[in-house]
Amino acid sequence: MPTQEKNEERFCLFCDRRIETGARPEKVYCNVDCNNNYNSRKKAELKAQGSPYQTEIIKNIKNNYQILLEYKSSKGQLKTSKIPIQELVQKGFKPEFFTSCYQEPNHRLWKCCFDIGYTEEANYYFRLSYMPFHYYIDEDTQEQVIVQSKPN
Ligand SMILES: [Zn+2]
Repeated sequence: MPTQEKNEERFCLFCDRRIETGARPEKVYCNVDCNNNYNSRKKAELKAQGSPYQTEIIKNIKNNYQILLEYKSSKGQLKTSKIPIQELVQKGFKPEFFTSCYQEPNHRLWKCCFDIGYTEEANYYFRLSYMPFHYYIDEDTQEQVIVQSKPN
């Protein structure tokens, strides 16, 4: 019995031209150029939807992380746990840009740049803590859940 496929016309996602009959079922572009053009257009659309400040914010976060990395040893531990805020700021660190935060029961607030946390101490110091991430599988949803370690 003939399948429906023969009557199903498919059109290129980029240029809307008809895709030749007998093409692989997963074929959705007429050629590599259309595939590339489609992906570029999608990327540009996504970029246009984002906040106009998005690139700048991400740049600040990456820069902060680069600065904090100077205090991390190759073994993942931090070389120091206390840094004068002024020292970081002079290097271009902007404390208001971070990726996650953690509040201790005593209300101390840690801000993190990926796996390095910082919190303000007395006398204009930041205390640093290595706060790596790990995954666990949620038993109900079977989905991977990412969690950040607490400060030590
Ligand atoms: Zn095409």
